[in-house]
Amino acid sequence: MCRVRLLLLCLCVLVAMTLTLAVSLLNHQTIQFDLPPKPPDLFKDKLNHQPGKPTIAQVKRLVSQVNWERLWYSHLRPILTERQPGSRGSRKVRKHIFSQLDSLSAGWSVEVDSFISETPRGPVSFSNVLAVLDPMAPRRLLLACHYDSKIIPSDPSDPQKVFVGASDSAVPCAMMLELVTALDLHLKKHKQLMSRVTLQLVFFDGGEAFEQWSQTDSLYGSRHLADSMSRIPHPPGSEQTTLLNAMDLLVLLDLIGAPDPMFVNHFENTARWFDRLIAAEKRLHNLGLLSSHPKELTYFIKDVNMGPVEDDHIPFLQRGVPVLHIIATPFPSFLHTLEDTADKIHSHTVENLTKVLVVFLAEYLRL
Ligand SMILES: [Zn+2]
Repeated sequence: MCRVRLLLLCLCVLVAMTLTLAVSLLNHQTIQFDLPPKPPDLFKDKLNHQPGKPTIAQVKRLVSQVNWERLWYSHLRPILTERQPGSRGSRKVRKHIFSQLDSLSAGWSVEVDSFISETPRGPVSFSNVLAVLDPMAPRRLLLACHYDSKIIPSDPSDPQKVFVGASDSAVPCAMMLELVTALDLHLKKHKQLMSRVTLQLVFFDGGEAFEQWSQTDSLYGSRHLADSMSRIPHPPGSEQTTLLNAMDLLVLLDLIGAPDPMFVNHFENTARWFDRLIAAEKRLHNLGLLSSHPKELTYFIKDVNMGPVEDDHIPFLQRGVPVLHIIATPFPSFLHTLEDTADKIHSHTVENLTKVLVVFLAEYLRL
């Protein structure tokens, strides 16, 4: 009897110990569950970001989706108009951008960042157009250009001819629309997978000076946006990081469309991304996927210093955002003249560059 009691006692002790352990484990889990999620290390993540490595078949499929007719007729033509900040033309171009983005299946969140700023010609209303694929993703790759046109008086002998800024920057805007159209299904899938890095497009207003380029008369839209992004907590509710910290890289397109452009690397901290542009150009050339492209490396040239170029990246650069500035240097000969028109645009160059950027985006976002 004594032995049975002892056994029962041991069993009771064992059950009690198991229960205590189970309760303590449960409590432990509950305590962990109640803790706020650890803030993502945006800075470490963007430094460690590795691009994908698309196969030859994937590269061929990606670039076959770039459609020159669509780029030219659907995206570019409606932008080839006067579009100074606050004008009717500006409003029409914004509507065009909305309708193109709306027609895509990826599901872009589009918004207008409107504000009024003092200019040498009095207060003017400006509107940046912002589109983000997944607003909740912790990090963003920012692809941008300016959509406003510079105020250039028309020639009194030909008053019908107005400044349309084809290379400055109607073509870059049309390229951005073609990029997201060509990659639409890939971007849709990318969004469904809730990837940590998403794509944001920005069409800046007021990139041009109204009169003489200065710190106060230029870059109206980018100065405003960089400032507001630096005040918005991101991820929402974060006490440590802002939307500006969420920007992995700003890829700024400008002055694109003239034949034989040269693009140089402007910043050491983004040289590895410039190298991806070089690699994409070489790869597409060697696969025979570029037209009117005589040398393996025609556009993206390293180790040439063209000096700093002031553009819409400056307000972001000053706040620590890494920048890849894709701007033709030397500038096109017709810059800021009435001759910056559609007939000066070299179709093969624009198509080739769009293909290079399709590969770049697919690698960066691991599409
Ligand atoms: Zn310009």
